[in-house]
Order: sequence, then structure tokens, then C-alpha cells
Amino acid sequence: MSYLKIDAIHKSFQEGLPVIKNFSLDIPKGQIISLVGESGSGKSTLLRIIAGLESRNEGEVYLDGTRIQNPKEQLVPGIDEIQLVFQDYHLYPKSTVEENILRPLLLFDKKYKESRLEMLLELLGLKAFRDKFPRHLSGGQQQKVAIGRALSVEPQVLLLDEPFSSLDTIQRRELIMELKTMFQNLGVTVLFVTHDLDDALQMTNDLVIMQKGKMIQKGHPEEIFSKPKNLYAAKLFSHLN
Ligand code: ADP
Ligand code: MG
Repeated sequence: MSYLKIDAIHKSFQEGLPVIKNFSLDIPKGQIISLVGESGSGKSTLLRIIAGLESRNEGEVYLDGTRIQNPKEQLVPGIDEIQLVFQDYHLYPKSTVEENILRPLLLFDKKYKESRLEMLLELLGLKAFRDKFPRHLSGGQQQKVAIGRALSVEPQVLLLDEPFSSLDTIQRRELIMELKTMFQNLGVTVLFVTHDLDDALQMTNDLVIMQKGKMIQKGHPEEIFSKPKNLYAAKLFSHLN
């Protein structure tokens, strides 16, 4: 049985044109997938729908066989099992690294919080920064804190919405490699959204190409490079000769 199942999603905002068109994707448990698409192709909308933060007109999302509700059907918005990380870190500026990471765990007992915090600080290499405020951290470190906060609730699925776009190329490469290892060790299922093919490939060889709300192609880079399904897919790979 498939794990994260995105089944024939269709979305348009009010009277507007469709933004997501019949989009389906199955992601096996523990897999990391990169979804590449240009700006405005519907990537963020798709992630918000998967996380249950945005309604869809048609189609369903299932996690391990359980249907993800539309926001209007939910009593509490969002679910812990699926966490979304944005480009802007949205850290609390007046809270320390430790407080930011623990924020979603306010109602959990102290022992659990402490053990979770220690583990995440260790994995993210942020031990020395636990009492620092976001303004004292580099962009990459701030994004790590945001990822730590998302992981604090032990999600099964992590949705990354262009989380590295504000970092320079070298910082990005390093952070992606570091995080990839961490995700694999944790066994978390990841959908990494980016407009940058190089970033996508740094994270994984399992690619999905999206254009104007539609899935264009899915596969490994060699397959897409040798048999692109349309001009956009071909152009994406044209600089990789
Ligand atoms: P991407 O993340 O790939 O850049 P988005 O999902 O943000 O794409 O946007 C896809 C399209 O949907 C864009 O044309 C955008 O203007 C439109 N859109 C996104 N959010 C809304 C909204 N809340 N209301 C109306 N249109 C929206
Ligand atoms: Mg976006």
C-alpha cells in the first residue's frame, strides 16, 4: 500500500483558473523526493493542500491510508504527522533556539521535551547555540532551527517549501547534504520543493517535474535528460551536459 498518496488533486482559487490540475503522486515511506517547478507553477499550493492547510476542489490526500481532511473539516488546523517548512523561517525573534524548537511541545511533559531537544540539537549541530536568539545565527542555522521545530513533534512527513532559497550556493549545498543524511537517519518521508534543479539533485535523484499545476514527468535525472516529456523538462536539464 502506498504511504503518502496524493490522488488526483484539482484546485482553483475562487473563480480563477486552475492552479493544480489532476496531480497525483505516491511517495513510499522514508523516501525523499524533489519536486521542481518554476515560480507560480503551484508548488506551494500543493504543499499546503497536502498539509491540510488549504482546501482542494477535487481529489484526496492519504497518509498511511488515513484521509487528510480539508481545513474546513478540521477542528484543529494542520496535523502533527505532516509538517511544512517555509522559505521564511518564521522563528520567534524573542525566543532562544531551544525555545523555538520546543514551541510546538508546550503541552508535552518535561522529560519528553528534554530528550527530544537534546536529540535535535545534536542532529542539527546546534548544541552550542541553544541559548542564542535567531538574530545571532546565520541564515542556514536559522533554517535548521525551523526544521528542528518542525521535527520536534516527530512528524512522519516533512514538506520543504524552497527552504534554502535565501542562502548562498555554498551554504545551500552543505546544508542540503547535512539534512539529507539526517532525514535518512530519522526515516522521515520528505517532499522537497524547489525551482532550482541543482538543489533538487543535491537532495535526491528521485525527481518530479511540475509545470503550470501539472505533473510533467517523474523519474531519475538520466531518464528525464534522455527522454524529456516536454520543452520545459528538456530546458531544465539543458545546462547539465
Ligand atoms: P509556486 O509555489 O510554484 O510559486 P503557488 O502555489 O504559490 O506557486 O501559486 C500558484 C498560483 O496560484 C499562482 O498563480 C498564484 O498567484 C496563485 N495563488 C496562490 N495562492 C493564492 C491565493 N490564496 N489566492 C489566489 N491565488 C493564489
Ligand atoms: Mg512557492
